[in-house]
Amino acid sequence: MNDIEIRKLFIADETFEYSIRVNKRSKYIRITIDEEKKIKITIPLFIPIKAAEDFLREKIPWVKKKFIEIENKRQRADEFKAEIWKKVFYLGKEYTIDLVELQTTRPNFYIGKHSLIFHVNPGDREWVRNEMIRALMFAAQKEIFLRTEKHAKRMNLKFNNIKIKNQKTLWGSCSSKNNLNFNWRLVMCPVAVLEYIIIHELAHIKHPNHSRRFWNLVEEYSPDFNSHRRWLREHQHMLKI
Ligand SMILES: [Zn+2]
Repeated sequence: MNDIEIRKLFIADETFEYSIRVNKRSKYIRITIDEEKKIKITIPLFIPIKAAEDFLREKIPWVKKKFIEIENKRQRADEFKAEIWKKVFYLGKEYTIDLVELQTTRPNFYIGKHSLIFHVNPGDREWVRNEMIRALMFAAQKEIFLRTEKHAKRMNLKFNNIKIKNQKTLWGSCSSKNNLNFNWRLVMCPVAVLEYIIIHELAHIKHPNHSRRFWNLVEEYSPDFNSHRRWLREHQHMLKI
């Protein structure tokens, strides 16, 4: 059962729009806010719709706090985006960017002392940026492939295929056919975080869910997984570039 309808709550001179979902499986009223600042309230089947409004009214201080957090996150993402093409993170370390424009069949980069030296085909800003992304995607392919093989062996699991993706929402995923997808942006993360994501997706081969047993398996191979999850939450803006 999935009734969605937009409602409005007026408090002083502020308006809060929210939607209600009735879920016969939930036991309590629940409120969530997504990145677009959309408020969703889930209520159990036997609770009157009116209760959702009362609940929201009670939660307004929390909602406002959450809105500020989302705004801050957005701002950080914008700042990061502006900075990233002057400096770049590679395996958790920050480098300045040195551009060498030349004719090349494949954009590439080398690690200097403090900079990444990119060899790219000449073009305008947007073009060069895409060339750099291509170079980083190739690097991601190599880094992720080798590390996935290593951990699959350790965990005694078999995956089917690996794809490196350019998506702005997910770090990784595992399909029902055991195909693994990883975001190239993972090469910006510290190695331990990158490896945690690999272990996480590999663990889904055995447990296609986020059950207790799934997390136990992850913990066995990535004991500090909680701090890596925290790191990823704090660096979500890296996904937006
Ligand atoms: Zn997962």
